[in-house]
Amino acid sequence: MSTNSFDFEQLYSAKGFHEDGTLLLSELTAYLQQATDLKAPALSYVEPDEMLRYWQSWNEENQHLSDSERIKKFCTDLLSNTNHLQNPKYVGHQVSAPLPIASLMMLIGGTSNNGSAVYEMGMAPTAMERIVTDLLCSKFGWDHHSRGFLTSGGTLANLTALLAARKFKATEDIWNQGMQKPLAILVSSQAHYCVDRAARIMGLGADGIISIAVNENFCTEENAIETAYQSALAKGREVIAVVGSAPSTSTGNYDNLEALGKFAKDKDLWFHIDAAHGGPAIFSKKYKHLLKGSEWADSIIVDGHKMMLMPALSTAVLFKNKNHAYENFNQSAAYLLEDSIEEDWYNGAKKTFECTKTMMVLPWFLLLNLYGETLFESYIDRQYDLARAFAEAINHSEDFETAARVDSNIVCFRYRFKENIDDQNKQLRAYLLKNSNYYLVQTRLNGSHYLRVSLMNPLTKLDHLRQLLDEIRKVVKTQKHLSNLSL
Ligand SMILES: *Cc1c(COP(=O)(O)O)cnc(C)c1O
Repeated sequence: MSTNSFDFEQLYSAKGFHEDGTLLLSELTAYLQQATDLKAPALSYVEPDEMLRYWQSWNEENQHLSDSERIKKFCTDLLSNTNHLQNPKYVGHQVSAPLPIASLMMLIGGTSNNGSAVYEMGMAPTAMERIVTDLLCSKFGWDHHSRGFLTSGGTLANLTALLAARKFKATEDIWNQGMQKPLAILVSSQAHYCVDRAARIMGLGADGIISIAVNENFCTEENAIETAYQSALAKGREVIAVVGSAPSTSTGNYDNLEALGKFAKDKDLWFHIDAAHGGPAIFSKKYKHLLKGSEWADSIIVDGHKMMLMPALSTAVLFKNKNHAYENFNQSAAYLLEDSIEEDWYNGAKKTFECTKTMMVLPWFLLLNLYGETLFESYIDRQYDLARAFAEAINHSEDFETAARVDSNIVCFRYRFKENIDDQNKQLRAYLLKNSNYYLVQTRLNGSHYLRVSLMNPLTKLDHLRQLLDEIRKVVKTQKHLSNLSL
C-alpha cells in the first residue's frame, strides 16, 4: 500500500458507521428539539458574502479538531446556518417540514443507493413507485390505463408532462425532426415560473406562452380561455396544451380546472394540471372539490416535498393514458402498448428524465403504509383550515388586509400603511427577515407588495399567527422609518 492512500477498509467499517451515525443522530435530535421548542429563530439570517467567508475559512478554523469532533462541529455549524422548517414560526416558502421518519428514510436511500431507473439497480423502490403512483392515479379518478412515476422535482415533472403534450398533440414529429412550426401553450399568468421555463426549454419562445387572464382571486377567468386561444391562433401558433394551476404559486388559489379541462377536450388539446403544491387535497373529503376537473387531465404532477410531509426532492408525474408515459422519450418508431403486449412497467429509464435517481419513493411508501391516506387528509384539512382562520383574523382587524380569497394554506396579506403602502410593506418584510423569530416571505401582485405565508408546518398554531400580527404591529410602532407613515 502506498503511503498516501486511504485506508478504505476503515472508512467502510460498520463500527465507524455506527459511531458517526450516533453522533449525527444526536446532533439532529438537538436540532429538532430546538426547532420545535422555539428556542431559536426559524432563520438566523447571515448576508451571503459573510456566509461564504465563514465556510471558506471553516477548514482552517477547525483543523485542530479530531475527525469526529469535526463531523460534530460540521453538523452544528451547518444546522445553525440553515432555515429551521420544523420551527412553528417557519411560515415561509412551500417546502415541507418533513416528518422525522420520512427524513430518516433518506438515510437508507443515501446508504444503499438503489434508486436507479434500471430495475436491477433498484428492485424494491421500482415496485413501490408503481404502487404509490397507481394509488395517486386512482385518487384522481383515473382507471387502470393510467400510469405514473416519480421524478426529481416539480420543475422536471412539468417539463416531462409538457414534452408529452408536444409529442402527442403537435402535428409535426418534433422529437425526431425538430421544431418546424411555432407552438403555444395556454397558461395562467399566475402559474409557477417553471412552466414558463419548461415552455422556453421546449423551444416555444416567449410568444409561445399565452397568458390566460385571471380574476380578482388570481384564478383563470373562464371566458378568457377562448380569448387566449384565439390570440395564439392569430399569432400563427399551433396550440398544444392548456395548463391549470392547483393552486397558483403566489396566492395559492386553484384555477377552475373543470372549465380548463372541458375547453381542452373541446379543442383536442392536452390538459395538464400543475398540482405540485395542492394535489394532495385529493386525499381530503373536505377540500378535494378544489381539484374538481382533474378527471379531465391528461397529466398531473404532485410534489412529495410540499404538502406530503416528505423531504426534498420527489414529484409524482401521472399520465391518464400509460402509453403517453412510455412513448414520451421513445426515440424509435411509435410502439403504442397493446393490451396483448406485455408492459415493462418496471423499466423506469424509458419514462423518466433521470438515468440515476435517488430512492425518493421510500417516504411515500412508508408513510402510506404506516399511517394511510388519513395522514394526508388530516394534514391538508389542518393547514387549509388554519389558513382560513388566519385570513379571518386578518380581515377582522383594522390594520391588516388579505390580497385574495384563501383556497389553500397560502395567505398573502399586508399592513395597511396610510402612505407608500408597497414600499413600507417591503421594508417591513426586510426588517422581519433580520429581526424576527418568524420566517415569512413576500410577493408582488398586480404591482403591489404583499407579505406571504405558506403554512407548511403542522406544529404552527393560530396563536403563533396572531402573535405574528402583534409582532408586526409592534415593529410598525417602534421602527421610526416605518411608523412615520402608519395608520
Ligand atoms: C413548487 C412548485 C413547482 C416547482 O416544483 P419544484 O419541486 O420546486 O421543482 C411547480 N409548480 C408549482 C405550482 C409549485 O408550487
